[in-house]
Amino acid sequence: MILVLEKEITQARKSQLKSILAEKGCMVHEPGGSGQNILGVIGKKSLTRESLMQLDGVADVVAISTAYKLVSRQMKHEDTIIRIGNVDIGGDKITIIAGPCAVESREQAMTIAKEVKKYGATLFRGGAFKPRSSPYSFQGLEEEGLKILAEVREVTGLRVVTEITSPMHADLMMKYVDIIQIGARNMQNFELLKCAGRMGKPVVLKRGLASTIEEWLMSAEYIAAEGNRNIILCERGIRTFEPYTRNTLDLSAIPVLKQLTHLPVIIDPSHATGIREKVSPMARAAIAAGADGLMIEVHHKPEEALSDGPQSLYPKQFGRLIRDIYVIAPVVGKQLIHDYTGYNAENADSLSEVETQGIESGVSRKEKRVVYLGEQGTFSHKAAIQYFSSDVQNYPVPSFRDIFDHVKNGNADFGIIPIENSLAGSIHENYDLLLEYELFITGELSIRVIHNLIAHKESKLDDINQVFAPPPALQQCKRFLDANPDMKMVPVNATASAVKSVLESGNLEAAAIGSVEAAQLFDMSVLEEAIEDNPRNFTRFVVIERQIANREDDKIKSSPKSSIVFSTSNKPGSLFEVMKVFSENQINLVKLESRPIHGKPWQYMFYADLESDLTDSSSENVIKAIEQNTEFFRILGSYSCGKNGID
Ligand code: PEP
Ligand code: MN
Repeated sequence: MILVLEKEITQARKSQLKSILAEKGCMVHEPGGSGQNILGVIGKKSLTRESLMQLDGVADVVAISTAYKLVSRQMKHEDTIIRIGNVDIGGDKITIIAGPCAVESREQAMTIAKEVKKYGATLFRGGAFKPRSSPYSFQGLEEEGLKILAEVREVTGLRVVTEITSPMHADLMMKYVDIIQIGARNMQNFELLKCAGRMGKPVVLKRGLASTIEEWLMSAEYIAAEGNRNIILCERGIRTFEPYTRNTLDLSAIPVLKQLTHLPVIIDPSHATGIREKVSPMARAAIAAGADGLMIEVHHKPEEALSDGPQSLYPKQFGRLIRDIYVIAPVVGKQLIHDYTGYNAENADSLSEVETQGIESGVSRKEKRVVYLGEQGTFSHKAAIQYFSSDVQNYPVPSFRDIFDHVKNGNADFGIIPIENSLAGSIHENYDLLLEYELFITGELSIRVIHNLIAHKESKLDDINQVFAPPPALQQCKRFLDANPDMKMVPVNATASAVKSVLESGNLEAAAIGSVEAAQLFDMSVLEEAIEDNPRNFTRFVVIERQIANREDDKIKSSPKSSIVFSTSNKPGSLFEVMKVFSENQINLVKLESRPIHGKPWQYMFYADLESDLTDSSSENVIKAIEQNTEFFRILGSYSCGKNGID
């Protein structure tokens, strides 16, 4: 049952209610985060709705109709986001778990871990206790394997996942690993499920070979009932009559689960297909279908692997797949971003500390701040949430200049600014501010922008005669606005501010352009969906900081990008001379933009993006050559361009 509490209920009364329910033998759960005052109550059948309604402070009682309670969407509406170190699973993030089927040796595990980290994995997998179909197959290195996993974490900073096959191994698992996996064969091993629940570590719960989704969720309920809600569901293929693939990947489980449960859902296409070539297509499909992550088997020498070699990707193949995932994720409103704080091995010795502390000088992560434009519900807000982990505080500010000011004077650690849009082009104001302020670009991300016409619930499309939106949004919806000439355009600062002003004006003839999230946030209605000129509408954001990006970030090494600004003398071939430097050094130029220099009519600054790390010592000659051919030159930043170094 879900008890909806009275709005004004005091904390004291709530505690009293909890003790009364506990005395009646009920399990009481506070879902949290929903903004609603509710209690989840699981108890005996004899406890009727009527008897609960009688309790002081209870406004309503809603029955949970499913057999599983704690893991159901009815119990908790919001997605559960599970935090492991600085990695989030669930919500808007795509999380990649990769590694070999089994840990075979220190060298094998370390080699593969470094490779998968380079290509974008944020968690490392490897079996130490292997449940094999044949007793004569390799059974795993057992405790030795767990020690190797702990060493991998020390060296690479990647948190580690391994399978637990018996409650007997619980102490060992507690000592060495971060996440435990319950394998397909053990999905209904109820003693093991209860043990995993009591251990309290996050659990990857694989779907049984022939289990229904309901049976699977009931198994998750066993873990949750012991007080552990950190459960990640992993679909890994089920037995069907089809022998071509090892199993049949049930992709439809993703949207089904998303409706039934708040738990994150990941896909293991390796065990699902059993065939290397089939892994990447199914992984891409899984992300398109809404999965929160992937678990992929990778081996540097799969032909020599002691288990599951034929389904293991080569590291480069894995890299190519992750590059595709990076492109697909924004289409479904998600982001493959990780490790922005540059977690590294020096901080690995005290795990509990890392859970709650930031990287630099023990600053609590909660104290880290990011500033973005506008209001909650803007696309900038979405970008901030998608780029940063959930425990960085984010604050809206009224203008782009405010973002630069806050970062410059230390009020904020990060700023996030839109820099260009695939339909409307560059956001010039931010180019100018990048030149004016001595700040650095340290990261980038693209998000898909779907614009909606938002108005009061009572408004009708035909009545709208005013549309509030920031100029870039008006530009992106030009076709719709041209087709509706009665709608007068009213430029404002940000999309969510537009929605808010329409709400506050009470004007039923006014509408705003903004995201579905903004409409929900302000309880407004969407009159017309997706009014952008072209659905391939992406905005690229960059992150700005006071210092250059962490040079130890492996991602920058594998997928470097630099942004620079320069001016040249006004003589024939001067821009060509700079381009020649890039060409001679095999540096790919991905963007070139010119902006007028304020106060110097007809003179220009050039902004260029290059696929190279110009802050690395190996780039000294390139820098010298650029300096020789320019009048002004500054590196705006070197950062990871998200895709990785695979051609
Ligand atoms: C594994 O992940 O290596 C494994 C044995 O998986 P499953 O339990 O899905 O077969
Ligand atoms: Mn395997």
